[in-house]
Amino acid sequence: MVRDTAVLLDEKRVFEPKNEILERAHVKNWEEEIEKGKNLEKYWSEKAEQFEWFQKWDKVLDDDNKPFYKWFTGGKINLAYNAVDRWIETEKRNQVAILYINERGEEKKITYYELYIQVNKLANALKNLGVRKGDTVSTYMPMCPELLIALLACTKIGAIHSVVYSGLSVGAFVDRINDAKAKVLFTADGTYRRGKIIDLKAIADEAILQCPTIETIVVVNHTGIPIQISELSGREIFYERLVDGEPAYCEPEWMDAEDPLFILYTSGSTGKPKGVLHTTAGYMVGVATTLRNIFDIHDNDLWWCTGDIGWITGHSYVIYGPLLLGTTTVVYEGAPDYPDPGVWWKIVEKYGVTKFYTAPTAIRHLMRFGTRYTDLYNLESLRILGTVGEPINPEAWMWYYQNVGKEKCPIMDTWWQTETGMHLISPLPVTPLKPGSATLPFPGIDADVVDEEGNPVPMGKGGYLVIKKPWPAMFRTLYKDEDRFLDVYWKEYSGCIYKAGDMVRKDEDGYFWIQGRSDDVLKIAGHRIGSAEVESAFVGHPAVAEAAVIGKSDPIKGEVIKAFIILREGYELKTQLIEDLKNHVRYELGPVAVLGEIVQVDKLPKTRSGKIMRRILRAQEMGEDLGDTSTLEE
Ligand code: ATP
Ligand code: MG
Repeated sequence: MVRDTAVLLDEKRVFEPKNEILERAHVKNWEEEIEKGKNLEKYWSEKAEQFEWFQKWDKVLDDDNKPFYKWFTGGKINLAYNAVDRWIETEKRNQVAILYINERGEEKKITYYELYIQVNKLANALKNLGVRKGDTVSTYMPMCPELLIALLACTKIGAIHSVVYSGLSVGAFVDRINDAKAKVLFTADGTYRRGKIIDLKAIADEAILQCPTIETIVVVNHTGIPIQISELSGREIFYERLVDGEPAYCEPEWMDAEDPLFILYTSGSTGKPKGVLHTTAGYMVGVATTLRNIFDIHDNDLWWCTGDIGWITGHSYVIYGPLLLGTTTVVYEGAPDYPDPGVWWKIVEKYGVTKFYTAPTAIRHLMRFGTRYTDLYNLESLRILGTVGEPINPEAWMWYYQNVGKEKCPIMDTWWQTETGMHLISPLPVTPLKPGSATLPFPGIDADVVDEEGNPVPMGKGGYLVIKKPWPAMFRTLYKDEDRFLDVYWKEYSGCIYKAGDMVRKDEDGYFWIQGRSDDVLKIAGHRIGSAEVESAFVGHPAVAEAAVIGKSDPIKGEVIKAFIILREGYELKTQLIEDLKNHVRYELGPVAVLGEIVQVDKLPKTRSGKIMRRILRAQEMGEDLGDTSTLEE
């Protein structure tokens, strides 16, 4: 067994909540809320009361057959009804539900009432196509309103949706559709990407030749480029034609709390993507509660999560969370730096975005431009910021805090996964913040750090992140692969403790510092170091924009660190800079951080959701097979 290093990250800054934040906050006392969360069933049932149930649950948590936990059993509910129908009898009826914006600056606004009508029509049309409760519907769509409408229509009639990210190639697409046995596929003529239109339909045409379960392909006329309804398939129909003339009301299907809601494949940072299955009621309660309390959602907030709907962040916090709370959700189709790196800030200014949620990869990218673009626009409307997807380096956190949030917006660093469905470790707006730490488990979440034997590690030591009690939005299985479900997540510790696969360290205040994935951990001279810690040290140097590190075997030292770095504008990797970097990292991390090579690169291998894929770097280094690359960025 390897020894742990001493506390590596030495980040000591603490940011207390500002008065304006405290005054508005739904949760004013985070310690009290955490106390309340200790009574799991009471805590989550109170949250569940806020929705409209067709029939109330008998049992909040059924843990008879661990780890196949069930939530709100006996309850009957429809998630789309709670996200849309519920609002049309209220003052929100004419409020914008979806604010769609694209890189060309075009916008579309859809009110709750309009959304209601459109979801109903499409739901009826799907029924006419023969889609029934429990059938699977897939999408390969841009970030556009019809994607949200399609998913909500599925949910309304009890069909299971399975979104395929629109940037995936034919092979990855085919695997996912066939795995999920989808009956209907939604696609579009194209999607806007950096001034071009990507012909999604052509990719879909090629893919579906290998997808025998697809009976109908629904094509959304999104960009207006001329397309042919392919004669090859004979299974296609335009979206507009499909919904035309359909009745404007559709009775929601009364779903059992535990009926499947969707299948979604993970981003594949560590290996072959897993088909994660989520169910209805627990997911709904978990997602809405976390969004409400972590981002303190109030009426007249303008919520913008930049995550793509092709990933879990988009499912939970572009569609379901915001609509369940009756807020306006921004749906943006485009890149963070096109037509220029000020495009996001321009949107914040124009529409008055109040809550903004993005990924560290985007922040690190935009931070290269200093304050040039953040200073160009008025960002005063922002109240709370957030990040998700990877550990955020303290350096990037500070840039975001100072230049985007103008030192008045707390940053919610939310740790969670496709599997968890909802945020599990995150500050609330009133939690004192430490840059680079996701702070504390959300109320009701029992997270801990353990060693290989499952024993809790002392404060300050690193170990494996585990969740010791169930939570409502947890995934229920891996689709058609129960063995892998048990094997990967539950087998290790007693069968009922969830192993997240990430390394973490808890500090003296109980704050969690994610150190990276356990697969990416470096074992240097008998010490265990998280990749995130070494990379943070690199990014803390003014010359470095991004870094990825791997362990490389060394005949003498066992393993040394090899670093791949992207330099900021104006720097060159000369001998002096290499020396500087080595000294800097050694100074930050201590003598343990034995650096082998440092190489300069223009790009790092990333998943299409923006996460660094260190396994690709390792495989390349060893001259091994790259493994599953279906989600690797071009
Ligand atoms: P795969 O499981 O196929 O390798 P993936 O883990 O990248 O893919 P996701 O479920 O999208 O797929 O990502 C979850 C992971 O992202 C977490 O396990 C963690 O490693 C990382 N992550 C998410 N949020 C944070 C955060 N706030 N801080 C640190 N890491 C985070
Ligand atoms: Mg994962």
